[in-house]
Amino acid sequence: MKPAPFDYVRPDSLAEACEILAGDEDARIIAGGQTLIPMLAMRLARPSRLIDILRLQELRGIRAEDGAIVIGAVTRQVEVERSDIIKRALPLLTKALPWVGHPPTRARGTVGGSIANARSLRRDSVDRGDAWRRDRNRKSDRPNRHARR
Ligand SMILES: Cc1cc2nc3c(=O)[nH]c(=O)nc-3n(C[C@H](O)[C@H](O)[C@H](O)COP(=O)(O)OP(=O)(O)OC[C@H]3O[C@@H](n4cnc5c(N)ncnc54)[C@H](O)[C@@H]3O)c2cc1C
Repeated sequence: MKPAPFDYVRPDSLAEACEILAGDEDARIIAGGQTLIPMLAMRLARPSRLIDILRLQELRGIRAEDGAIVIGAVTRQVEVERSDIIKRALPLLTKALPWVGHPPTRARGTVGGSIANARSLRRDSVDRGDAWRRDRNRKSDRPNRHARR
């Protein structure tokens, strides 16, 4: 199956992205595309426009700031997994990330996308969410389980 037709825009700033999003209620953000691209291909999502935020530098990076750890929305999961800042400050996250998807999805998928997707699962793809839960219940204790598929 192929996606339904859509426009594609790549804004130069966060402000521009927000403006486009505010002006089109059928537009949708795309970051790493690890969930959204399959949903488009299966026509489970049919946005009028995709707003590509992946290259927005304002949304990148990991830093310690005022006693908190700030992770930009388009920071890739693998960057967080390998970050020394995260290892020191949030070691549980370093341990948990190898359990999310598998190396290729973590190389593309973003932290913001995972958080947003956790919310949109209920709205768009309850079946996929259930499939992941079933998979999680079946999986062995090896973090690289997907690499063997
Ligand atoms: C084979 C495979 C295995 C997977 N296994 C797991 C798993 O074990 N656990 C798990 O949690 N996930 C899993 N996923 C899902 C996937 O890893 C994440 O959902 C994905 O990485 C989300 O990030 P993304 O940047 O790719 O988001 P995209 O696919 O680009 O977007 C996902 C959704 O989030 C929205 N969105 C993205 N970024 C933002 C933002 N900054 N602000 C607002 N909305 C935003 C999009 O509009 C879209 O609705 C798997 C996916 C695949 C393909």
